Amino acid sequence: QPNTKPVAPATSRNATLFERAQKLIPGGVNSPVRAFKAVGGTPRFIQRAQGAYFWDADGQRYIDYIGSWGPMILGHGHPAVVEAVQKAVLEGFSYGAPTEREVELAEEIVKLVPSIEMVRLVSSGTEATMSVIRLARGATGRSKIIKFEGCYHGHSDALLVKAGSGLATFGSPTSAGVPPEVVQHTLVLEYNHIAQLEEAFSLHGRDIACLMIEPIAGNMNFVRASVPFIKRCRELCTQYDALLVFDEVMTGFRVALGGAQSVYAQSIPGFKPDMTALGKVIGGGMPMAAFGGTRAVMEHLAPLGGVYQAGTLSGNPVATACGLATLREIQKPDFYDALGARTRSLVAGLTQAATHAGVPFCGDSEGGMFGFFLLGTLPQNYPQVMKTDSPAFNRFFHAMLDSGVYYAPALYEAGFVSAAHTAEDIEATVEAATRFFAGR
Ligand code: PLP
Repeated sequence: QPNTKPVAPATSRNATLFERAQKLIPGGVNSPVRAFKAVGGTPRFIQRAQGAYFWDADGQRYIDYIGSWGPMILGHGHPAVVEAVQKAVLEGFSYGAPTEREVELAEEIVKLVPSIEMVRLVSSGTEATMSVIRLARGATGRSKIIKFEGCYHGHSDALLVKAGSGLATFGSPTSAGVPPEVVQHTLVLEYNHIAQLEEAFSLHGRDIACLMIEPIAGNMNFVRASVPFIKRCRELCTQYDALLVFDEVMTGFRVALGGAQSVYAQSIPGFKPDMTALGKVIGGGMPMAAFGGTRAVMEHLAPLGGVYQAGTLSGNPVATACGLATLREIQKPDFYDALGARTRSLVAGLTQAATHAGVPFCGDSEGGMFGFFLLGTLPQNYPQVMKTDSPAFNRFFHAMLDSGVYYAPALYEAGFVSAAHTAEDIEATVEAATRFFAGR
């Protein structure tokens, strides 16, 4: 991507830190999208955060719509969470032996997500989805898995794969270092494409261990799986004895208290996935993730069953304290009503600002997760998302950044509103967007 903005002046501490970082850390960052490669310019090095804001190394304040890519649903530094973490830290960082808090967190998760009968805690979303796939293969005795183009499930080898050339063919690796044999069992299909899904099952159904999907895809900005599509996923998995896996690492406790599955259950009576991967919000900003599902499947996990899975820091006592405190806050009355209304007001405000200036624009949200597109209609799949004019998005991104509004630095990422975002924050954001659209 071309740089749309001159690199920050050499006197900037952000620029100095980026220079230092690049000497020792590949690309200067510990996760690629932080590098601003898609949008150009100098990444901001964050010094501290509070509520809906963070401050960079030059002391510039930003309204934060990343929220650590999803976890910070309460905003930064929520007093109840800080207190729980401080108390936990004094009791020890890690024991490598079970704790009461792990049991409490498991009880909370099982209570809030009815499809989960048993759960295992891990430390990242990547671990959760990777382990679910091993478990699905172990439990079914099958090798093949289905994923959808544009869905991201972490960076384990079998999931770093893009669609092959033909309809319902097996994919090819999206990363160097992933041998083609490792993804030969991964079938990559188009999101929301029912006919292709049916064809894949009719060709390979009895070999499919699981179908994994982001039910509301946040890694191609914000694209909902249609209700008929999810319904068909459920029916076909049931018909062919394959496991339906909802990757709710991003959507879990973010779009609703019961996750995206509870949203679909409103339209599809009795709807449940077999397995769910969780992350982000359940750790409240600490390394914490989980996977769970039916007891019959989960009992295949070691030490009960033959599917091996383990972790030195799994169920870490400080992370569980942070996660538990977060889960308790989000269960307070009206939490999601208020969060959803605030998020909708942001999307409505941005849409109005763009439309007023004659700029094609549309957006969508669920709970505290949103997306917007410089397009006339909401995309239904990855190729449609990628029709967005990326130089235009980059100009928008930088104009907002210069106004103190921090959106995800790539057009294919979702955004997040927290309970700490006020009506004034939304207003300031919409004003900045209005100025940008008017002056284009
Ligand atoms: N699954 C989804 C839907 C995600 O959005 C992500 C990360 O953004 C992951 C899995 C991987 O999680 P992690 O980055 O914690 O490994």
